Amino acid sequence: MPEKMPSNPYGGGPGVGISLPDYYKPTKYISNNNFYFPGTETLGADEMRVSFVGSTPWPPRIKQAGTAIMVELGNGDNFFFDLGNGSIKNILAMGVPPVMINDIFISHLHVDHYADLPYMIPFTASAGRWDPLRVYGPDGARPDLGTAAMIDNMKKMLGWHFEEFDFMPTGDGYQIDVTEFDHRDEMGVIYDKNGVTVRHWPRSHGKDGASAYRLDWEETGLSFVWTGDGRPDELTIKYSEGVDVFVSEVQSDLGYIASLKYGYPQEIYNYVIDTHHTTHYALGYLFNEIQPRVGLATHIEYEPGTNNEVVAGVRAHYDGLFLFGAPDVQVINVTKDAVWSREAVLPEFGTVSRPTPEQLKKAWFPDGEIPEFLEIDPCKLPREEQQDPYLREIEIDPALYTPPDVMRELVTRLPPTLKIPVGEMLDSQGDE
Ligand SMILES: [Zn+2]
Ligand SMILES: [Zn+2]
Repeated sequence: MPEKMPSNPYGGGPGVGISLPDYYKPTKYISNNNFYFPGTETLGADEMRVSFVGSTPWPPRIKQAGTAIMVELGNGDNFFFDLGNGSIKNILAMGVPPVMINDIFISHLHVDHYADLPYMIPFTASAGRWDPLRVYGPDGARPDLGTAAMIDNMKKMLGWHFEEFDFMPTGDGYQIDVTEFDHRDEMGVIYDKNGVTVRHWPRSHGKDGASAYRLDWEETGLSFVWTGDGRPDELTIKYSEGVDVFVSEVQSDLGYIASLKYGYPQEIYNYVIDTHHTTHYALGYLFNEIQPRVGLATHIEYEPGTNNEVVAGVRAHYDGLFLFGAPDVQVINVTKDAVWSREAVLPEFGTVSRPTPEQLKKAWFPDGEIPEFLEIDPCKLPREEQQDPYLREIEIDPALYTPPDVMRELVTRLPPTLKIPVGEMLDSQGDE
């Protein structure tokens, strides 16, 4: 017998491997143990679902969008931690209606963590998210480097798009309520609603203004940490104490392999890691110090050829439950009794999901009072006021291309106010 035989740290028996605890099992609310089919499963009242709707920093890949994590709670609350490039398509494919994409926590302002924000704002506003978007993020060393400045600059960038979309109802959907916090604060509360708090702490990531987040759901005792990007640090160990789901970025310390693959000088690769990122060895070290119920790695160049090496580096320090939050979309269900991981089965051409009445109520009437009618300004700026008439005059007469039996009257103006019967909207599920 070899001198040192590996053993299951949880004391598990045959058939469960040497790193899987007995709580690695489907939660009692899961309907399919192998796949997550969006829209077919209701979260339990004491259940949390963490979905990696984006998982890479760079390069973007067919199966990896920019970093983004969706956290859904059994009380109906949704949270988004970062919103990288391409993540919106995964979020929509997960069956999340546009009105429910809100409460976005940005860890720092590297664009792989927020690139889909400017893309989604005008489109979700015009798709019925007529309430302000809530965005949270750190300040920087100067006012022009903080989250609020980024949002202001983004609004300027979207000037043409915002104004053009004012031909249709957008309500207050362009408004962005920014909660910019002092990045140096340790465990400052930036969200506190429905018994759910989100706190933050600073991280070392090359520049002032990088944060980690911790979500605590009091009623169930469940908790979640997203480190954002950064070097392994003591604050992360301290403030992740007792956490259920600990998610970290990782940059595998494989500079030589990277130089062979990408033709990138090893020294520069190492320099980026050593000033900004968490190596796979550091990841194992953090996991071991923190002892979460599940440790996850995301923000990773997920590659079959090197993943085993990442696992080996993690296992040099940590023998507990470790999973990849990559590639897109891995789904982790968590209760106090169980942790389970599955792959989401996503439609390739799925369209936007219709919100349920409960979701609409939550998004539109969070205080619970439901009016008889919703009055909305249908058109802040009709096209007659933002387009030279000659461009309409060169349009071809629809009678020349529309078959006469389907010819209808053109809708070129909406009535001055739209009164939407709310009750009917909430009741109607399209089966009348
Ligand atoms: Zn990043
Ligand atoms: Zn970064």
